[in-house]
Amino acid sequence: MPFFDLNQAQLLELLKDQPTYRVKQVWQGVYEGLERPHEITSLPKSLRERMGQEMDFALSLNPVDRVAADDRRTIKVLWGLADGRQVESVLMAYSDRVTLCVSSQAGCAMGCVFCATGQAGFFRHLTKGEILEQVFHASVLSKRGFGQRLSNLVFMGMGEPMANYENVVAAIRSIVNDFGVSARHITLSTVGIIPGIRRLAEEELPISLAVSIHAANDEKRTRLVPMNARYPLDDLVEALTYYRSRSNRRISFEWAMMAGINDGLQDAIELAALAKRVGAHVNLIPLNPTPGWDYPGSAPEVVREFRDQLTDSGINATIRANRGNQIAAACGQLQTQFSRRARISDRTDTQDLFRLV
Ligand code: SAH
Ligand code: SF4
Repeated sequence: MPFFDLNQAQLLELLKDQPTYRVKQVWQGVYEGLERPHEITSLPKSLRERMGQEMDFALSLNPVDRVAADDRRTIKVLWGLADGRQVESVLMAYSDRVTLCVSSQAGCAMGCVFCATGQAGFFRHLTKGEILEQVFHASVLSKRGFGQRLSNLVFMGMGEPMANYENVVAAIRSIVNDFGVSARHITLSTVGIIPGIRRLAEEELPISLAVSIHAANDEKRTRLVPMNARYPLDDLVEALTYYRSRSNRRISFEWAMMAGINDGLQDAIELAALAKRVGAHVNLIPLNPTPGWDYPGSAPEVVREFRDQLTDSGINATIRANRGNQIAAACGQLQTQFSRRARISDRTDTQDLFRLV
């Protein structure tokens, strides 16, 4: 079993001939020291060799390509999975934090018309290990490349996390317990899968919830976000109110600004009313270009005006900074293009990723 799919009990079982403290050393070496199991130098050589030979400690993600932007403070990595599928993660360094945008599925079945991942369709769920391993590599990259600790995580990469609920929640628990990232610094973004929102409310996991709204009436939202036909806005509001009451966490709405589609005064009025019902904060995202959607994003002054309309109605609204847009690493732009790229090598060290950028 790949290392990141193991829990501590399973690791203990695999290494049952070893004293418990050695197993702890392996666990801590990986999660705290950010070392690969068979390269932890404080372990006896024989054990390291054995782990290298006998156990499936090979990592599951293989770096296929990487691109950097924003003065190398934004890095997108394309990962090859064991079965040849590919997913992307984006690491963004700021002065006070480093945020990883993580993928939860290869592709996505939700079909939002303006999203590159949705346009490509669904391939498969990621395992807990594949999600965790993105975090492992990002932690190494962040520490060695930026000299900063990976502090924040957003499930805004490829896929709909609520559609891969079990693996995502298992990964989040491990990210919090083993990697020591605070749950409060983790945001799960969903298109609005109601059963998932209700289930998450019961988890006692104080993560933030972001909901991709984009239109505040059912007719328009169903055109942009087809899942709305199944989970319409009134039901969504009810589920979000429940989530809020259980978790005590603020909810945010995401709204990609599309010229002439959802950036008018009427849209702002409807959105303000909806946000008020759940006490949501609104994040306005400049629309990023994607191959299957020809319509332009709203002009910056329209975005600001829209923000002001929301603010004047008493809604807390912010405009999201547009990181990674030039390298197709921004929100909604992730879409692996199979066979387009060659492998860097079969095994590139994560730290080499930074040097190669
Ligand atoms: N599936 C989840 C999380 C991944 S998408 C969700 O939909 O919430 C992350 C965010 O990017 C979502 O808010 C999504 O609506 C937004 N997004 C998708 N396509 C976009 C685009 N072309 N421009 C800007 N944001 C986009
Ligand atoms: Fe899937 Fe989110 Fe893209 Fe919609 S916006 S297609 S839910 S990844």
